[in-house]
Amino acid sequence: MKVQLKPNQSPVPEAERAARVAAPGFGKYYTDNMVVAEWSEAEGWQDAELIPYGPISLDPATAVFHYGQEIFEGLKAYRHPDGSISLFRPDANAARFARSAARLALPEMPIDFFVETIEELVKQDHNWVPSKLGESLYIRPFMIATEVGLGVRPSNKATYLLIATPAGAYFNAAVAVTVWISTEYVRAAPGGTGEAKCGGNYAASLVAQKQAATQGCDQVVWIDAIERKWIEEMGGMNLYFVKGSGANARVVTPKLTGTLLPGITRDSILTVAADLGYAVSEEMISVDDWRDGVLSGEITEIFACGTAAVVSAVGSAKSAHGEWKTGDGNPGPITMQIRETLLGIQHGTIADTHGWNHKVL
Ligand SMILES: *Cc1c(COP(=O)(O)O)cnc(C)c1O
Repeated sequence: MKVQLKPNQSPVPEAERAARVAAPGFGKYYTDNMVVAEWSEAEGWQDAELIPYGPISLDPATAVFHYGQEIFEGLKAYRHPDGSISLFRPDANAARFARSAARLALPEMPIDFFVETIEELVKQDHNWVPSKLGESLYIRPFMIATEVGLGVRPSNKATYLLIATPAGAYFNAAVAVTVWISTEYVRAAPGGTGEAKCGGNYAASLVAQKQAATQGCDQVVWIDAIERKWIEEMGGMNLYFVKGSGANARVVTPKLTGTLLPGITRDSILTVAADLGYAVSEEMISVDDWRDGVLSGEITEIFACGTAAVVSAVGSAKSAHGEWKTGDGNPGPITMQIRETLLGIQHGTIADTHGWNHKVL
């Protein structure tokens, strides 16, 4: 499969584009082009097309509107100091996209084809990639079921789309987020879709996010569906707990049980924290461990991680059972060290010893 180039002949004027890239926000502006590829059961994947960014037209009876058969990915292109542009671990996103597709009964896309569509879009729209530290081009591949008809069955047609948006800092890195530990709503249950990156997981999570806001919190923390005590994730990000301090600190993240989304940032931090000399482990961590740990001082820092925000400190936690604070409520030193190391690797200012950066241009 190839990507046929039919780029936008009337891109955003240069001055306007420069202004948008200089103050990108998040998801506010989209680049001049997008990529579309069609799949059908009868013919498999067709060549992708790179075409002008714009609305798509679908029959109202299209499957995705009714039964939510949809998956997505999120990754970033970073501009390095020499002006080159690299993607961060796109092969890992490709592999996860294929796993999500399998779970949602959508067609798996070959890894190379997926990565190639991203390379072509980034090459075409390279002047939309910001260059400041913490900024990037956020890339959103997704796939929808496009068979027309209201019968409930795996769609025999699917459309892959790829769009990109220049992105500034997602959260203010200097401020810790406050979290609401939801005991009423559950994000994912064993055998469900928690491991897949699908829109439906988010649709089901929004009411809890609303509840968190009502409680004066920025984000929701999810606990497990069965015992209702094990910490899973925060919103659309994975969590890390720092125990102890200095060179003897331990960096711990909830174990992947099948209901957590296996984040690529989470995976990268397991390696980065070990490279920095910390003991690293994946463990079951309960709400009681969290509360007791911060009250006794054993847990010194907590942070969340994901592609969009990279690393973000977690401060106060609130639940139906009380409220407690981590450290002094500000981002801790190990959180900031891990954040800066990972950002440095992504931006090409710190050596990439694991071959994570995938140069595009
Ligand atoms: C995407 C996502 C993450 C983070 O994954 P990254 O690959 O690090 O961006 C964590 N949790 C959920 C629910 C997600 O959808």
